[in-house]
Amino acid sequence: MTEVEKYRGKSRAQAIGEAGLFGMLYTLTAPVRRVVDVAVPLFRPFAWKSVGALGAASRAGWWVPYFRLIPSLPRPFRFRTNPVLGPWPEWSRPVPEGLRSYPGYLSDPSAEDAAFAAKPLRDFLDHEYPEIGEWIRRGIWRSGFFVKPRLQRALRAIFEASQLQPQRAEKPPAPDALTAEIKDLGLQLRLSAVGVAAYDPKYRFKEFFEDEAGHDRVIVCILEENYGAQQTAPSVRSDRATLSTYADIMTRQVKIAERLHRYGYRAYLHDVDGQALTIPYAVAAGLGQLGLNGQLLTPYAGSRCRIMLISTDAPLVPDSPVDYGVPKICDNCRACVRRCPAKALSAKRAFYRGVWKAKLNTARCVPVLANNHDCDICTTVCPVQRYGLPAIYDEFERTGSILGKGTDDLEGYDFGGRHYGPGQRPELLKEYFELPVLSQLSRPEPDTEQAASSSIEPAR
Ligand code: SF4
Ligand code: SF4
Repeated sequence: MTEVEKYRGKSRAQAIGEAGLFGMLYTLTAPVRRVVDVAVPLFRPFAWKSVGALGAASRAGWWVPYFRLIPSLPRPFRFRTNPVLGPWPEWSRPVPEGLRSYPGYLSDPSAEDAAFAAKPLRDFLDHEYPEIGEWIRRGIWRSGFFVKPRLQRALRAIFEASQLQPQRAEKPPAPDALTAEIKDLGLQLRLSAVGVAAYDPKYRFKEFFEDEAGHDRVIVCILEENYGAQQTAPSVRSDRATLSTYADIMTRQVKIAERLHRYGYRAYLHDVDGQALTIPYAVAAGLGQLGLNGQLLTPYAGSRCRIMLISTDAPLVPDSPVDYGVPKICDNCRACVRRCPAKALSAKRAFYRGVWKAKLNTARCVPVLANNHDCDICTTVCPVQRYGLPAIYDEFERTGSILGKGTDDLEGYDFGGRHYGPGQRPELLKEYFELPVLSQLSRPEPDTEQAASSSIEPAR
């Protein structure tokens, strides 16, 4: 049994067991947490003020005394919310005939360039809509409580590694040998997958252009998130697993930067807030394809993973996009579109900034994110996340259908203390989406599945 298979098809009890002591405490304290869930909104004005102060301290820099004062247990005794998973097996499975489409995603490079020239991308939460960022983050204090010290240590380490002007200590190997060495190192560090893409300023947020001057390669690192925790989304446990995965991936990335420094190359490590779009790089590096949920679908874990980038001036050999059959799987599935409680997802693809994709309705998604531990239902109900592509291919070859589609096992979720099976969605009132903080966002009507069926794919 491979490392990846070990984490498939676990029952909820097994998954919680894997989280160790913390998992047991989590289960035993369920009734208390339910009371807290009800009581916290009553004290929100108070919580908002205290978290706001800590949040402001956090933004002032990770060296502020607040974080230094938080003690941490010796490594073997620290609580973990996710087990350390191993690297994914190399992908070699051919895509079934009926699911083949195109490598990566379709794009119009001239339209992409024109969009970049007209308006470079900006950091959504910190710079474009800071009030919305503040609003979303106010809810993560419970998820971040145990993880924050580890997250802060990792942030400090990547900040220091990014500032380093290395002196060459060893003669570097040839580009292809260096690329293989870096990928091997990533797998030894137990990252799930590592790829290389060419640097592209189009994906960089405008606020951070200067930091990567002279860099022409990007190392894409992916780390799988805990399987059991993700299946409980939206929940504190799932959100905590996300933050914990970020801490792990950043810590491991520092080792990759140290290897590049040894050969005299610079490395700029992106942090948890993100300084560029990660998905285009991951697609370019052949690590997955874009799903209708707007996320990267990786072959073994769908979008249940975190992606982090290291840009460098090392002459690494870039990988190529791969066809995993994701576009056709999505066309046959649409579970995320049907199940999103906010009707924020569409199955209708169009060119957006030169990329052929379905566009998320941000104004509908953001209130759900802010009020429900980062939501993530569109990841949880995705069959690629739940079963992995090999099982989906097997089912498609046998029956011509998508594994789990329409079943409560895949599509059911708990939201606001109630279970919603297939065909049921929470009724969110109009007022839910009309808060003043959202007024800056455009608010197009949600697309329907009927509209989706009329979408016409561009000629290739
Ligand atoms: S995070 Fe939640 S609200 Fe946002 S698109 Fe996904 S399912 Fe919908
Ligand atoms: S849920 Fe279905 S449609 Fe949505 S991203 Fe996953 S495979 Fe694609």
